[in-house]
Amino acid sequence: MKVAVVGSGQLARMMALSAWPMGIRFSYLVQQGDSLDPITSLGDVIYDEAFPEAEALYKALGEPDVITVEKEAVDTDRLKALQAFCPVYPDPKMLETCRHRGLEKSWVNEQGVDVAPYRRTGNRQEILAALDAIGYPAILKTCTGGYDGYGQWRIKSAEDAVALEEEVCNLDCVLEGFVNFKREVSMIAVRNAEGESRFYPLTENLHRDGTLLTSKAPAPNLTAELQQQAEEIANKLLAASNYVGILAIEFFVTETADGGEHLVVNEMAPRVHNSGHWTQLGCISSQFNNHIRAITGLPLGNTQAMKITGMVNLLGVEMDNSVLVNSDQQLHGYGKSLRPGRKMGHINLVADSYEELDAQINATLAKVYPEG
Ligand code: ATP
Ligand code: MG
Ligand code: MG
Repeated sequence: MKVAVVGSGQLARMMALSAWPMGIRFSYLVQQGDSLDPITSLGDVIYDEAFPEAEALYKALGEPDVITVEKEAVDTDRLKALQAFCPVYPDPKMLETCRHRGLEKSWVNEQGVDVAPYRRTGNRQEILAALDAIGYPAILKTCTGGYDGYGQWRIKSAEDAVALEEEVCNLDCVLEGFVNFKREVSMIAVRNAEGESRFYPLTENLHRDGTLLTSKAPAPNLTAELQQQAEEIANKLLAASNYVGILAIEFFVTETADGGEHLVVNEMAPRVHNSGHWTQLGCISSQFNNHIRAITGLPLGNTQAMKITGMVNLLGVEMDNSVLVNSDQQLHGYGKSLRPGRKMGHINLVADSYEELDAQINATLAKVYPEG
């Protein structure tokens, strides 16, 4: 069995590593300038520019059984042309929806699922009108290209709105109301071509400067009711898009008038996701493994958490074994060269209680980020 992945980052690397023992082999479709370090020695690398014709490209990729992606910012016309030769999962149409915040929010809304209040904007006047309708604080987000908090401007007051640069105002954006959330959680869901789906327990995520820092799974105090709410939403979105593979859904958890919890969709990722990295240690079948199983038509793997699990991201710090705090921890490095804030690796860890989980996460953070 052969899988071609569009992209050459850590997500491609971890998909390949997780499916390697099952005898599945990989090739990678990349662009000039992509960093190849994470996938070095893990299969052939093919440059998109070198094969203008889809059939020649398909052959160069080693005639894969299926093509998948590790990111949503890809040339979907190219993928649609490749669909003549083998399945492409998830469908390029869903990638187009997910990589554009405006299309994504309206599509999620059409499925009867809540998103934060928002308006599309393209100039200062539209931003001011949107602020009038939605109020402060708000966040302006570019429709395309944003990730890890890049391409976002927080607007706390009318002065902030006035201070926005003209260039920023003229970008294709969504202006989003600030959601007063209790916590953030994410759902990692998987569906195969027969329509069978499985769900991991909700993960609680903590972000620092817009970038994921830690995850805890299952989310502390996770009720059956909240898990059910998330699975129903995931089911709707998976079925409506006839989805195949892993879909990640980021949620804000808000408090209802009667003290209950309500889920609002922040955004989706049509791929394996950083908030699902804990599944490498916490589950029989990790998100990476289940993604490959789903797209290759293998039976889906168990998604239950075997233990209380945590994940700490290594952001802009050298990745080496000395950062491990104890023997309940697992280190994953991405083979990348160091840059400020760059995702270099992560630590997965297990604990017997949530108190122990917190203590371990805090000890790990203190060791990895001694400066705080
Ligand atoms: P990534 O794709 O890496 O998850 P991103 O750049 O697409 O990040 P978002 O997920 O939109 O960014 O936002 C990053 C974080 O900023 C969120 O996880 C949340 O903590 C905060 N945030 C974003 N939008 C809102 C909002 N409307 N209300 C409150 N907080 C928000
Ligand atoms: Mg995003
Ligand atoms: Mg996000």
